[in-house]
Amino acid sequence: MLQKTHTLAGLVAAECVIIYYNQPLLSWESGAALLIGCLVGPLADIDKRGSTMAKILLPLSWLLQILRVKHRTLTHSLLFLVLLGYLLTPLPDFYYWTIIAAYASHPLIDLLNDQGVALLWPLNRKFRFLPKPVAIDTGSLQEIIFRTTLAVLAIILPFALWDSF
Ligand SMILES: [Zn+2]
Repeated sequence: MLQKTHTLAGLVAAECVIIYYNQPLLSWESGAALLIGCLVGPLADIDKRGSTMAKILLPLSWLLQILRVKHRTLTHSLLFLVLLGYLLTPLPDFYYWTIIAAYASHPLIDLLNDQGVALLWPLNRKFRFLPKPVAIDTGSLQEIIFRTTLAVLAIILPFALWDSF
């Protein structure tokens, strides 16, 4: 999936956490959570040379290249998610779950892609939700439709928070 699709998925994930914690939408905490969602959603693609995240976090991207970490392996795995969860435990629950949900949204929607994700890395077997003929190809019309659906969801979800405005 493209970076803009992952950004929207991270945003939707952050909105879900805001709703779960009954956080007023017009608050600094929610603003920070929405920003975190947008930034963390595409983060796992730091393993892809030339991606926006790889360019922004160039030293980390170089390190992954030196270690020969392939795309959609380590940074897209459940193992990495568990390690991230462990590292973030000092954070307050609200921010902890915002980051975890936004990060997890990445491999979750990549599972819709035809190339699949090495979810159980270091095992190299790749998983995907959909059979290859109907899986969403990166940059395809299906991805545009999927991204539009996420955008609509990102607009609709705050109305679920209407009472707390
Ligand atoms: Zn990815």
